[in-house]
Amino acid sequence: MNESDKPTGEVRLLADAMLGKLAKWLRLLGYDTAYDPAWDDAAVVRLARAEGRVVLTRDRVLSERRGLRALLLTSDELEEQMAQIMNELHLPPAEAGSRCSICNAPLQPVAKAEVAERLPPYVLRTQEVFHRCPRCDRVYWPGGHWARMQPVLNRLRGEE
Ligand SMILES: [Zn+2]
Repeated sequence: MNESDKPTGEVRLLADAMLGKLAKWLRLLGYDTAYDPAWDDAAVVRLARAEGRVVLTRDRVLSERRGLRALLLTSDELEEQMAQIMNELHLPPAEAGSRCSICNAPLQPVAKAEVAERLPPYVLRTQEVFHRCPRCDRVYWPGGHWARMQPVLNRLRGEE
């Protein structure tokens, strides 16, 4: 790998239509991951080229398209896919919890008072830091979606 090819911290990914679960996880980890189950191969290729995204796919034919940066995933298992991506793309540490898992939009901090009436009572009592998706309005907090990922993340890091 040339010096100039080294990741700058802004690796942009695109998960093909078969990889919805993977896309959600990558977003929760903070990686910019385009995904839409409605995209066909042509749409994937067009968007990846236009936005300089690395295509993640299980489809060898798609991965070998000209002018495309792609990573052919060798496993159907989420954790093995994540490990392969980390290893082969040398992803820089992302800011977990910085991105909406549904929209891929960067989250924005939001005051507890602004979202309080939408929170479950337990969350209201125990959490102080909240983020909101500017696109879908979903609210995130550290004990929510992110906590459930932690055991898997720890396993992935143990493999490094
Ligand atoms: Zn969203």
